[in-house]
Amino acid sequence: MGSSSSSVNNIPHAQELMQETGFSAAHILRLYERFKLLDKDKSGQLRPQDFVAVRELALNPIGDRIISAFFSPRQETVDFASFVRILAHFRPTDRNRSRDGAQQEPANSSIRKLKFAFQMYDQDRDGKISRAELLQLVTVTVKVLRAMLGMQVTEEQLQSIAERAIQEADLDRDDTISFDEFRKSLEKVDIDHKMSIRFLR
Ligand code: CA
Ligand code: CA
Repeated sequence: MGSSSSSVNNIPHAQELMQETGFSAAHILRLYERFKLLDKDKSGQLRPQDFVAVRELALNPIGDRIISAFFSPRQETVDFASFVRILAHFRPTDRNRSRDGAQQEPANSSIRKLKFAFQMYDQDRDGKISRAELLQLVTVTVKVLRAMLGMQVTEEQLQSIAERAIQEADLDRDDTISFDEFRKSLEKVDIDHKMSIRFLR
């Protein structure tokens, strides 16, 4: 494709994606520009390493989890449509949006954001967050904090942070965190705020 006239009509599946995700034409256009920028080899597919260039994700404490959420064990690259669908989960909730024709919860509703966050923790997708999965996430988060704030955290402290988190959330004491327990433990946290990425506003 030659010169880029900046119209949403030149973007594959744009109308479909707008309907599905609630993104506006301007959003889709902006995301497309961004996608092309990240797609250095112009293959129309992004690999995990392409995401490292997204500064907002690098600075997000769960940035690598977000990046890994784009990929599944069987899917090593993402095309533009999947890119948009996944980012829709991070769109700040639009409180004034009309509900016309909304048959299902929009991707950016609090519950869908929670489900998406849960999947980020639940690496083996068995529907439960195990102690090991939690420890892995705590480690990732603390590594980012360490890099950003120069915090010193020992292996033992990591273990005890994970231990405490699981003890607080694990209401039925089966040593794993179910989605329900996860939801309850996050009730006090503003998930909408945490799961929004600024450039999607
Ligand atoms: Ca799991
Ligand atoms: Ca449990």
